[in-house]
This record gives sequence, structure tokens and C-alpha cells, in this order.
Amino acid sequence: MHPVSDAPAGTVTRNGAEPLLRVDTLVKRFPVKGGILRRTIDEVHAVSGVSFTLGRAETLGLVGESGCGKSTTGRLILRLIEPTSGTVWFEGRNVTALDRHQLLALRRDMQIIFQDPFASLNPRMTVGAIIGEALIIHGLAKSQRQREDRVVELLETVGLRADHMRRFPHEFSGGQRQRIGIARALAVSPKLIVCDEPVSALDVSIQAQVVNLLEDLQEKFGLSYLFIAHDLSVVEHISHRVAVMYLGRIVEIASAHDLYSAPLHPYTEALLSAVPIPDPTVKRTRIRLEGDPPSPLRPPSGCAFHTRCPIAKKDICSVEVPGLREARPGHFVACHLRG
Ligand code: SF4
Repeated sequence: MHPVSDAPAGTVTRNGAEPLLRVDTLVKRFPVKGGILRRTIDEVHAVSGVSFTLGRAETLGLVGESGCGKSTTGRLILRLIEPTSGTVWFEGRNVTALDRHQLLALRRDMQIIFQDPFASLNPRMTVGAIIGEALIIHGLAKSQRQREDRVVELLETVGLRADHMRRFPHEFSGGQRQRIGIARALAVSPKLIVCDEPVSALDVSIQAQVVNLLEDLQEKFGLSYLFIAHDLSVVEHISHRVAVMYLGRIVEIASAHDLYSAPLHPYTEALLSAVPIPDPTVKRTRIRLEGDPPSPLRPPSGCAFHTRCPIAKKDICSVEVPGLREARPGHFVACHLRG
């Protein structure tokens, strides 16, 4: 039996256990300033009431087109930016209420890997200094010798060599730089890593190596990942569950198997139709969505997807915002006509 009946929509973990992370109705609006007095003249609705949970040693894929709010959601969880409203719970602690000192302590448990490893690595620091920095900040190495030993251990854990610690970021390939970023995140032995499009900038062959490394590390250290990507093919193999975002909202969330084999939301169907199938005997009809995503400055009324949805019914879809409902056990969808 699925243990979810009274859990908030889309917020159950895959095994029903107490989650490591709970995101509750998170909202982020960015002010748009204008005029001589730089007053707020408008707001970008970046994240509009996102809720989900993440279990221990679980990977949740968070997928959607560029500008849908997925990266903002990742940054809100770590409090790299402050939410407009909503709550983030980590191991039962309200992250959104922590002061700076408490937040620094929590950063040991929650780390982030960025899309562009080159931009996120200081070009003037050696790899050893980049990885060792976190050990210094968090007081995790008592001596230089101890720090160097730990850096070597981390480099080897991510498939690099001890002598790489003396080199600079520009001496490495894109895949190796991402490994350095992963080693830096691992330095403080985190429980959660927000992986913000960690393979999007890499060649396809290298993408698989980095994804495999992340999977191995999850098994070895019991890590949880929020794995952010803009297409469904990247997250398919690494995710236990997948959430699809559109214009600041989660429109579908389910186990990876259910979402890929029987998607419910028309937007998920469109995204899935673009994923190549390795078996040439299986035919998939490409669903082409009309137009670009609407501006988050002026999200459409009702269901934000109604301006592009191939099955929209104007009288209801453009009027009422569909809530995220459990259509099948553990499978949630926000659509008036599905589920
Ligand atoms: Fe399409 Fe209406 Fe469902 Fe939105 S609520 S996805 S517009 S059918």
C-alpha cells in the first residue's frame, strides 16, 4: 500500500520514509525596478508555490525549459537567494529561519554543483586550494598535511590523480573540471547536493561518465541529489523520481518509471516526445508545442500552459489554476483534464 494519502500533493518520498528535505509552497518573485527612483514597477514570478520532498540517498530530477524556475528553486533551498514566502525543511530544521551562523553550519550538509564548472572555479587558485578551501572554512583539517591528504583522497574519489592538486583549472578538460567541482562539494561530506545542470555543458560521451560518477558516489556515501536539467533524457537513468516544472510550478511528479512510461501532463508528453529512443523499431510521434513559453512577468491566467496546450478547454483551463492532484498512487499531476 502506498503511504501517501494525507501527505501534501507531490511531497512523498519514494519509500514513504521521513524525508531529508521538504520544500513547502516555495515562492520567489524578483522585483523589476524602473524609473528615475528605481521603484519596483513589476515582478518576475520565478517560483510560484513549489512543494516536494527528497528522501535519503534519493535522486529527484527537476526538469523544465530554461526560465521555468528550476535553478531558482535549487538556489532557494540552499538560501543562496531568499524566498518571498514558503519554507524549506532539512532534517526537520526550518532552513528559511536560520541566521547566518546557523546557515554556515548547515552548508556542510547541503552543497551545489554548477553547470559551468570553469566559471565556478577560481582560475587563480590551484585545484588543491579550491578543494581545500571548504576544509579551512569549516575547520575540517587541523594541519596542512591533513588538508593535503584529504584533498588527495577527494581527487582520487572523483577519478583524478594526486598530482592534479598542483595544477590550475584551465589545465583540465570540461569533464575533469566538473569532477573538481564534485570533489569540492564532497569535501565537507554533505548529505544533499543540488546538481544544477551539471552535465549540460559537456559532450554527450562525457555526460554519461559524470552521471555514472554521481551514481557511484550516491551509493558510496548515501547522498541525496536534486538533479536539475532542461531535458528529460539526462535525468532518466539517475532519478528515482522526476518533477516537471512549467513557468514556476510543478505540473507533474512521479517515479521515473511511471513518468516515462505513462506521463499524464500534456507538457510532460511534449518533452518526452523529444527524447530519442535507442530502439529504432519503436516509433514516437514528436509533439511540437506552439510558440515560446510565456513571460514569467505575465504568467497566463488559469493553467499557465493553456496558451500552448494541444488539449486545452478554454472555459476551464484559462480560468482556474489546476492543483497538483494524486492521479495514481505516488503520481501527481496538475491538469483539469488528466488524472
Ligand atoms: Fe492543458 Fe488544461 Fe491540462 Fe492545462 S489544465 S495542461 S491547459 S488540459
